[in-house]
Amino acid sequence: MMKRTVKQIANMIKIENDITDFQDKVIIGACIDTRAIQKGNLYVPLKGRFVDGHQFVETAIQNGAGASFWQKDMPNPPEGLPLLVVEDVLTALQELARVYLQELNIKVVGVTGSNGKTTTKDMVASVLSQKFKVQKTIGNYNGREGLPLTVLSLKEDTEVAVLEMGMSARGEIEFLTKLARPDIAIITNIGEAHLQDLGSREAIADAKMEIVQGLSPDGLFIYMGDEPLLKERVQDHTHLRMQTFGKNNENDIYPIAINQEETGSTYSVNLAPDQPLYIPVLGEYNVLNSLAAILTGKELGLTIEEIKAGLSSVKLTAMRMEMLDGMNGIKVINDAYNASPTSMKAALNLIMDLDKKREKIVVLGDMLELGEEEKEFHQEIGRFLQSSKIKYVFTYGELGYYIAEEAHKQFGADRVFSFTDKKELIQSIISHIKGNELVLVKASRGMQLEEVVTALT
Ligand code: ATP
Ligand code: MG
Repeated sequence: MMKRTVKQIANMIKIENDITDFQDKVIIGACIDTRAIQKGNLYVPLKGRFVDGHQFVETAIQNGAGASFWQKDMPNPPEGLPLLVVEDVLTALQELARVYLQELNIKVVGVTGSNGKTTTKDMVASVLSQKFKVQKTIGNYNGREGLPLTVLSLKEDTEVAVLEMGMSARGEIEFLTKLARPDIAIITNIGEAHLQDLGSREAIADAKMEIVQGLSPDGLFIYMGDEPLLKERVQDHTHLRMQTFGKNNENDIYPIAINQEETGSTYSVNLAPDQPLYIPVLGEYNVLNSLAAILTGKELGLTIEEIKAGLSSVKLTAMRMEMLDGMNGIKVINDAYNASPTSMKAALNLIMDLDKKREKIVVLGDMLELGEEEKEFHQEIGRFLQSSKIKYVFTYGELGYYIAEEAHKQFGADRVFSFTDKKELIQSIISHIKGNELVLVKASRGMQLEEVVTALT
């Protein structure tokens, strides 16, 4: 974690009040939640949707915070507390992170994309830890607040930081990349997530491309080469060093002979065709995510043996294609973390081809935030399901209904069930299980389908 005296912090960012009384106090890291304060933390009173953190400044100090930011325009600052008065709290947090990262002078890998950011971040970090001291974004702390907090949690002896960059509007990735100044920037893919906010896949691609704006001049840009929208856009950046990954063999790196096994995938890549690789996670798209990690490893000088070891030992953040043992010998794939049409189809493709011995059941919930065409996106999933490969289709939610409606045409009424009540959904699934099936559970995070997973496991 950042460790600086108040005086040093005042040299890093603009502080508007007199801090001489407590300038030698040592501040360790930053925290936005009074319940999670660790001794010496800088408390950062952000304005939430419902509450303003300024209410809790005294509590934060009582709980051990070494000092607290205070926004200049907030009335009645509590007296006698170690306050650092700033123009704007969020800006101060971001600026402090920017300067701290610059002072650390370490390698930074930035990861953005519509799907697979967290997964790719975890894979990159696992690979690079074979050679370096690596720290990565905790969980999904990938935005204007999360990324600076991640940066301030970096230890002084960290050699590489792997930072996830998320966005829901134009300009956000630009902001994050200019803060983090990555040496390697990765775009995992372009999908439909945030279509509602941005309007079109083209606009999403433009937004993701912003990541190169902060890329260090001799840095490396790694992107999904099968995506025409990215291929088009890199034409404007011919000065950049670039490498591509993807399925097709025009990419710098592509997979050969992927084998899906029950617990993961084995494959090799064109760059090291004789080296069998393994990732302990399912899904062809996870093989693609791993290609970005391989390129990153190579760029930072790792041997293929080190990369291989890093990939085979990767531990992913929970709820992403987790294979679990369930009741009556069933297997449950928990992918309840999020869903968009791209990731839904990817997961369905996987389950339809996996393990011919088990019958397949899919439990699909609403994909949220898709904008005007949300109904069509769900209908498309309904048509995508193959009745020869799936036994039962369960849907949950009002949009999920449209999946069922389309699936119905192929599957008939006795193999498709649609619910808006989760208890009824769970009961119905359980009553249809004979034993030994493979069940995929997938929806947007807001649908909380992990409750189904819990019930089945
Ligand atoms: P968020 O925007 O919520 O942070 P993310 O980009 O970090 O999402 P992950 O959490 O890594 O994405 O993965 C979420 C889900 O997206 C996975 O469970 C999987 O279903 C799907 N997914 C992961 N990688 C890809 C990919 N390369 N292409 C398509 N779908 C993917
Ligand atoms: Mg994520």
